Amino acid sequence: TTPVKSDIEIARAADKKSIWEIGKTLDIPGEALLPFGNDKAKISADFIKELEGRPDGKLILVTAINPTPAGEGKTTTTVGLGDGLNRIGRKAMICLREPSLGPCFGMKGGAAGGGYAQVVPMEDINLHFTGDFHAITSAHNLLSAMIDNHMYWGNELDIDQRRITWRRVMDMNDRALREVVAALGGVANGFPRQGGFDITVASEIMAILCLSNDLKDLQKRLGDIVIGYRRDRTPVTCREIKADGAMTVLLRDAMQPNLVQTLENNPAFIHGGPFANIAHGCNSVVATRTALKLVDYVVTEAGFGADLGAEKFFDIKCRKAGLHPDAAVIVATIRALKMNGAAAREDLATENVAAVTEGCLNLGRHIANVKQFGVPVIVAINHFLTDTEAEIAAVKEFCEEEGTEAVLCRHWAEGSAGVTELAEKVAELADEGHSQFAPLYRDEMGLFQKIETVAKRIYRADEVLADKTIRDQLHQWEEAGYGHLPVCMAKTQYSFSTDPNLRGAPTGHGVPIREVRLAAGAGFVVVICGEIMTMPGLPRHPAAETIGLNEDGEVVGLF
Ligand code: ADP
Ligand code: MG
Repeated sequence: TTPVKSDIEIARAADKKSIWEIGKTLDIPGEALLPFGNDKAKISADFIKELEGRPDGKLILVTAINPTPAGEGKTTTTVGLGDGLNRIGRKAMICLREPSLGPCFGMKGGAAGGGYAQVVPMEDINLHFTGDFHAITSAHNLLSAMIDNHMYWGNELDIDQRRITWRRVMDMNDRALREVVAALGGVANGFPRQGGFDITVASEIMAILCLSNDLKDLQKRLGDIVIGYRRDRTPVTCREIKADGAMTVLLRDAMQPNLVQTLENNPAFIHGGPFANIAHGCNSVVATRTALKLVDYVVTEAGFGADLGAEKFFDIKCRKAGLHPDAAVIVATIRALKMNGAAAREDLATENVAAVTEGCLNLGRHIANVKQFGVPVIVAINHFLTDTEAEIAAVKEFCEEEGTEAVLCRHWAEGSAGVTELAEKVAELADEGHSQFAPLYRDEMGLFQKIETVAKRIYRADEVLADKTIRDQLHQWEEAGYGHLPVCMAKTQYSFSTDPNLRGAPTGHGVPIREVRLAAGAGFVVVICGEIMTMPGLPRHPAAETIGLNEDGEVVGLF
């Protein structure tokens, strides 16, 4: 057997086409491409406007079972399926999130797919790319600066400085900045107050950019941001600070989706990257909408497992943007199924059909959950070299009993050639037009009832536990006119429950709510269940220690 090449080796050997050629395959005229070098371009807002009257292609969501350290491969499968659809003669493209800079220097591993299913140029995509995160960081911190400046010059709005909820952001894993005291050093520096930093992907601006339809909508949402409260507990908005106009200016270019290509020269939009816990975890609405106008099939990924990622994709993104998904692919790996079936991490390379079958209970529940949204489902078994025939057969058999097909895919090892069967079946599923997509709950439902609906119908919990302060806060927001918003659940990605160690398909658990946060600009209420980190830290030996340039000026140690 030939030695397995690393992701970066494969990516570097890619036979890339110029971005103008990629644009041509989508009939995008040269002047509508705003290039960054030869292999990346933004699509001009004017061109996007011209597409308005065109019919939409089919929308396909890639989601997964509950993740384990064994890896599932949602991004890899999204890329592979996009290439597979093109290979069987369908006009398809993919839409992905932009990776955050922070984790690159922490744990090794990029977010541009893997093996022979990747998007390129992968170093650029994983590092500064086209500067969108810089723009988001700047817009966020402009508002922070203007808030403290408002306090400095007399606090005309009567903001309670203990109740400012707007923090600062930076695109780096830096635990030292989680809680800080700002404005120290005397009268000239303002009024000292406690604040802190989150990572840029956790910024509400990121979620807003990803959910906005256009620049006008963007400015309205920025204006709606609640930055804190007065002494009488009434909310203060970004519009009152008068920051929304300047923030829109900073974000104007970042609103335009980024075009790149797969290893097989098929088009891909990579645009926006909100956290999947305190935000909704999928790429921008603008990118998805534009892609739907340009091709017949759009394949897109939602973060984490289907209990979080798919639920938010459906209940937040699709609800808000009026998108109508036609099919969903649930990615499973034998290794992750084994872990969901209680096998130990050290034993994943050994055949264990019983653990796979046990782990299938997790898969089965995700299948049933996605069906609750009216979206037809298919399972993709992302093949690892250690998988055995008997294990694969066990998954197929389980899925058949659930009334769902499971297809083995070898895109990681073989590129599009390894995923044609899945591509055929997904195209068929989407073309049949059987999707009857509807969000899980109605806008009019009370905020607490919405939380209960998700907890009971998706997590299969018995009850939601919340003390009086949390219930009162939700009521207050309902009174203030925020009751129609969807809820954005933030819980562990590793379990249906709020206990990361409870694998498989647990029942009878309770969902305790620790905290609720209003994201009035993004348009959701964040419900925090368990420990949620909005500023990660670096590990003892961060990847950054070994990252550098080699003799040829190439990046080493990053992936
Ligand atoms: P996700 O999007 O679900 O987080 P990714 O697609 O980013 O997962 O994959 C995570 C890692 O697993 C990547 O480094 C990728 O190269 C690796 N990977 C994915 N599929 C396979 C596979 N079939 N065999 C080996 N490694 C894989
Ligand atoms: Mg991914």
